[in-house]
Amino acid sequence: LSRFSKVPKGPEDAILGVTVAYNNDTNPNKINLGVGAYRDDLGLPFVLSAVREAEYRILDRKPHMEYLPVAGSAMFIDKAIRLAYGTNAFVDSGCVAAVQTLSGTGACRMAGVLMDRFLDGGSRDSKPLVLLPNPSWANHRPIFLDAGCDVDSYAYYDPATKSLDFDGCIKSLSDAPAGSVVLLHACAHNPTGVDPSLEQWREISAVLKAKGHLPLFDMAYQGFTSGDMDTDAASLRLFVEDGHRIVLAQSFSKNFGLYGQRVGCLSVLTDSEEETSAINSQLKIIARPMYSNPPIAGVRLVEEILGDAELEKSWRSEMRDMALRIISMRATLKNNLSELGSVHNWDHIMNQHGMFCFSGLTKEQVDDLRERHSVYLTANGRISMAGVTSKNAQYLAEAVHDVTK
Ligand code: PLP
Repeated sequence: LSRFSKVPKGPEDAILGVTVAYNNDTNPNKINLGVGAYRDDLGLPFVLSAVREAEYRILDRKPHMEYLPVAGSAMFIDKAIRLAYGTNAFVDSGCVAAVQTLSGTGACRMAGVLMDRFLDGGSRDSKPLVLLPNPSWANHRPIFLDAGCDVDSYAYYDPATKSLDFDGCIKSLSDAPAGSVVLLHACAHNPTGVDPSLEQWREISAVLKAKGHLPLFDMAYQGFTSGDMDTDAASLRLFVEDGHRIVLAQSFSKNFGLYGQRVGCLSVLTDSEEETSAINSQLKIIARPMYSNPPIAGVRLVEEILGDAELEKSWRSEMRDMALRIISMRATLKNNLSELGSVHNWDHIMNQHGMFCFSGLTKEQVDDLRERHSVYLTANGRISMAGVTSKNAQYLAEAVHDVTK
């Protein structure tokens, strides 16, 4: 008899559930706007040609398949942190502790465990308190809870303006217990597409400083706001300039299109090489009993691309093309809605950034879109703009217009 016969069935993941329902729909016009993965203008998954070329070059060298070290590839880590921090005194003086992680999810989880074990200066004796923007990526909460942290939220999105509730944000960060951990989306906020301006980032940085909060940056979409990797890292670089010792979770899923390869990096800025070495040792102690060492195939691709000027140039240009295609679909969708005579204000489609548009559609309208038009999005009204194409943008606008008349 099974020893697991009493296991209660858990709920399905809300986002993955959207794709299951989409797959079961036979309408030829159906559109999947649930998934947070880039699609090309034919609506197909996209492998960047720089990634493909890197793959061929690596294969040609008949590489080994040995284990990586527990902390992952040192070359990859070096390239990852330079991509994020740029030229920077911390990087050059050995004041960055870092490990290769199982993509952005793994980086957040490692950060959570590290904080649970070692973070000092928090207001609570037992657990670190991680504050998430309201709303945030749905996986953040379970990640930090499972890692042993407490989780709460701070004001971020204002449904009335469909933009940043800046005053509310500053107020809740000021009111939070001193020494909290504040999770910040470096750019292209998921799910709202709402990013603070540089001026607003400066003020957020000042509040965190005044309160002794720890900035924990999650950068899963570097490149997707502006098309430029450096411009999109401006928020965290500003915090570093302001003297914060930040923690950074990086994902290479979207900007290199390496989703299933699980390529990511967790880094922590430190005061000294001794501190770096101590944190590195603990990150390895966390990684070893969980998965021993991280996967090798994906980081090789990143190393190959960032180690070759020609491939890097081609990758940067394709990255920009992905961002620009999404921006052009924003414009098309907004124009189509106004040409159809929609009386609503759709400016936020253009004003929001990155892969997502927080449309403001209600749960009922989302249900209506699915049931009457075979258009699938998450219940919170988030549209993955990456699923919009030249071909389906008109159908989508008509469907949205129909459910919002
Ligand atoms: N952080 C945010 C805000 C995300 O949206 C995602 C993916 O959707 C991730 C992190 C992590 O993704 P991955 O584990 O594929 O790198």
